[in-house]
Amino acid sequence: MLLKEVVGQDAVKAKILGSVNQGRIPHAQLFLANPGAGGLPLALAYAQYITCSNRTETDSCGQCNSCKKHSSFTHPDVHFSYPFVKDKGEVATELIADWRSALKANPYMNYQDWMQFLGAEKKQGNIPVKETREIIKSLSLKPYESEYKFLILWLPEFLGTAGNVLLKIIEEPPQNTLFILVAENSDKILGTILSRTQSVRIPPIQKPELKSALMEIHSLTDEQAERMAQISQGNYRICQDLLVEAESPYFELWKSWMSACYLVKLNESAILAEKFHSMSREEIKGFLHYGLELLRGIMVVKYESSLNNWVGKEFDFIQNFNKLNIPFVHLQSIINQLETSIYLIERNSAIKMVMMDLSFFITKKIKKQ
Ligand SMILES: [Zn+2]
Repeated sequence: MLLKEVVGQDAVKAKILGSVNQGRIPHAQLFLANPGAGGLPLALAYAQYITCSNRTETDSCGQCNSCKKHSSFTHPDVHFSYPFVKDKGEVATELIADWRSALKANPYMNYQDWMQFLGAEKKQGNIPVKETREIIKSLSLKPYESEYKFLILWLPEFLGTAGNVLLKIIEEPPQNTLFILVAENSDKILGTILSRTQSVRIPPIQKPELKSALMEIHSLTDEQAERMAQISQGNYRICQDLLVEAESPYFELWKSWMSACYLVKLNESAILAEKFHSMSREEIKGFLHYGLELLRGIMVVKYESSLNNWVGKEFDFIQNFNKLNIPFVHLQSIINQLETSIYLIERNSAIKMVMMDLSFFITKKIKKQ
């Protein structure tokens, strides 16, 4: 991972890079991170930076042999350790393929995400004694390719008393060995490990940093990003959830319905009519209210796109729908018709009839010319 791919944390980055550039890398560090603040991504980017053969003052090159191996989490001088469940293996390396895939999918994953990835969300993960012995064995070898050998140990909270096995090697490490422990809760780590490591505190991501990352990475508008940065309190993992949740369960159905109307696909409309028929009166009402909001979003975006509060797929849908250039009066008449339909459904009209009429009406107003 490149440092610039880590969201915010400019102050922490400056601190850890400073020690590298001054040639004073502490041999054992504990990255003590707030949830979703980027402890693991920072550790990954930091290790990559240290071994990059062409680094600048602020980042790795991303191109050299070492960077390529780091970015696929396959560098032979990095030993990864993490909690796991015993029916998946006895030591962490047995799960390395899963670990790499999970990191590729989301370096901001948390413990629950990882357990879910392993299909073990109902089980208790840990880092057993056997794994600590494996760590010692692996670190006793000389570095293969770079100057340093690394242990990136994610969530030492799960070591329990097995952590005692590591005390000696942390205190008297083999030459050129760097320990990076990434934790969230120092209360659950052995005091003897805490006292042997240098802490790097990783606070919640600062609001302005998080906001600009949300605008850049997820194309949120200024206002949306401001709101999300505020709600998530500097936790990027929460932002990821919010981005997904921002999408309604009705979205896909609404999108297929509009597409069938626009392209005048009567077969698809008939299939959708069946689907509507199977929904409860409350669900249909919810669905139509949702559609009303989306249509209002489209009306707004025509004049003032910054007032559009939608994100993700819905935001894309609104942008694309807007490009169809459907006349304003037609959109307004669809909105009126949706309101009428909700009124009829509330008064017990047959759902199938109401929705069929509505399909014809919308088709007439938006169909591809
Ligand atoms: Zn490089």
